[in-house]
Amino acid sequence: MKQDMNKVKLHTFSGWIDPPTDLQPAVSGEVTCDTAVIGGGVGGMGTTMRLAERGQDVALIEAEFLGYGSSSRNGGHISGAPGGDLRMLKLFYPKKMKGMVLLADHAAEYLQGKIRDLDIDCDYVSNGLAMVAISPIQMMRVKSCAKILRKAGGRGKVGTAEELGIPRAFVGGMIEGVGGMLNPGKMCRGLRTNVIASSARVYEQSKVTDVKRRDDGKIVIITPGGTVIANKVVLSTNAYSGEWDIVPERLSIPAYLIEAETEPIDPKRIEALGWTSRTGVLSQHQIMEHFRVTERGTIVIGVRRIQRGTSYPLPKDKAPDPGLVKELEGALHTRFPSLSDVKVAQAWGGWMAITSSWVSLAGKLADNIWYSCCCNGHGLAQAPYVGSLIADNVVDGTMHEDLAGIWLKEPKFPPFMLMSPAGLRSVWAFDRVGDVFNGSKRRARRAAAAIS
Ligand SMILES: Cc1cc2nc3c(=O)[nH]c(=O)nc-3n(C[C@H](O)[C@H](O)[C@H](O)COP(=O)(O)OP(=O)(O)OC[C@H]3O[C@@H](n4cnc5c(N)ncnc54)[C@H](O)[C@@H]3O)c2cc1C
Repeated sequence: MKQDMNKVKLHTFSGWIDPPTDLQPAVSGEVTCDTAVIGGGVGGMGTTMRLAERGQDVALIEAEFLGYGSSSRNGGHISGAPGGDLRMLKLFYPKKMKGMVLLADHAAEYLQGKIRDLDIDCDYVSNGLAMVAISPIQMMRVKSCAKILRKAGGRGKVGTAEELGIPRAFVGGMIEGVGGMLNPGKMCRGLRTNVIASSARVYEQSKVTDVKRRDDGKIVIITPGGTVIANKVVLSTNAYSGEWDIVPERLSIPAYLIEAETEPIDPKRIEALGWTSRTGVLSQHQIMEHFRVTERGTIVIGVRRIQRGTSYPLPKDKAPDPGLVKELEGALHTRFPSLSDVKVAQAWGGWMAITSSWVSLAGKLADNIWYSCCCNGHGLAQAPYVGSLIADNVVDGTMHEDLAGIWLKEPKFPPFMLMSPAGLRSVWAFDRVGDVFNGSKRRARRAAAAIS
C-alpha cells in the first residue's frame, strides 16, 4: 500500500526522545580546568564520567545538549562484534583482528554494566544482535564471519531462521553472544543525568569554534560565549570532527544515515513472522539494512543508504529525505510482505563518522590532546568504552590492551575508497541488483504465504 510521505513526521533531532528542557548553561567569560572534553555524545560522556570518578577537574563542552548527536538517533543495537565486513577487516588488518573483536565484546559488556549500575531506564533487552542472511550467498558470508569472530575470541551462535527465532524471510544468521537493543534516546538521557550529577562541569549550548594550542602548551577552546583554558583536551566530536585546523586530514568522513519507525503493529503479527527471539537483525548487504522491534510495539528500519557530507560545518537541522524514508518503508514491505499495509509514522537521521579503515581508532595529536573515533555503525557501546579507557590514559598514562589495539602512533590516515557520493551510490546499486537475483524476494513471499 503506497502512503503519502507528507504524513510522515520527519524529525531534525530524534524520534526516540524529545530534547531536554533543563539545558545547562553555556560557557561564559574565561573558564579554566585541568581537562576539557569536547562533544557530549556517549563518547564524551563516557570520558567525562570516568574522569570525574577519578577525581579529576573536568569540563564537558557541548554545542547543543548532551546526547544531541548520533548517540540519541541511532538504531539502538548494542553489538558485541566490530562493525564492517569481518572478512575485509581480517584481510587488511590481520594483526588487529583479535584486538578489535575483544574491544567490541568488552564494550558491549561495559555498556550493559553501566546501564545496570546507574539504573538507566532505557528499555534494554539483552537478546543479542543477529547478522542475518537474506540469501544463501549472504549465509556463506555469515558463516565465514562467524568463524573469524570465534577464532579471534568473539561469541556468536549460527543457525537457521527457525533455530534463532528470527523472521523466516531470512535464510539464517548469527546471534552475537553479548549485546541487545535499547532506546538510545533514553540511554543518553540517563547518562546525561549522571554526568550532570557528577563533579564534572557541564556546558551545553557552547559550540566550539576553534581549538588552539598556546606556546605554553595550554589548550584554548573558543566558544561564542567565552573561552576555556585547559591543560589537556579530549576531542570527542565524532562526525563533526573536521571543523578545526587542529584535526588531521582524513581522520573520518561524515555520513548521514536515517531510521524510520512504523505505526504500532499487533504483536501477534510480528510473532507470526517467526520473530520469536525479537532480536534486532542486520542484513549482510554492502550497506546494511536493519530491522528491530521496539517497546512501543513498532518496527524501526534503518540505513540502506549512506549520504556523504561534503563540507563542514555539517548542516544542523537536517531532516531525512522523504524519498529515502519511502525506500526504507519499501524495504520493510519487501522483506515482510505480510506487513505491506503497515506504514512508517516517523523518521529521523544523524551524522556518523566513518574512518577510512572502517576500524575504531584513538590516539594523541600532541602530548596533551587526545582523540578517538569509534563509529562505523557500531559506536554506541564502543565510543563510551573507549572514552573511559582514554580517561584512564589521561589520568596516569594507563594503556589498557583494548585501547592499545586501536591506538595510532601517529595521526596519519589512509585515503578513502568508494566513499565519494558517486561511489556510495554505486555500492547501493550493487546491493539492489543483488536483491533482484538472489531469490530473497521469493523467499520473503513464501514466508508470508505460510502466515496467511
Ligand atoms: C542513523 C544511525 C544509526 C546508527 N545505529 C547504530 C546502532 O544501532 N548501533 C551502534 O552501535 N551504533 C549505531 N550508530 C553509530 C552510533 O550512534 C555512533 O557511533 C555513536 O553514537 C557515536 O557517539 P559519539 O559520542 O562519538 O558521537 P555523537 O553522539 O555524534 O556526539 C558528538 C557530539 O559532539 C558535539 N559537537 C560536535 N561539534 C561540536 C563543537 N564544535 N563544539 C561542541 N560540541 C560539538 C555534537 O553536538 C554531539 O553531541 C548509528 C548512527 C546513526 C547516525
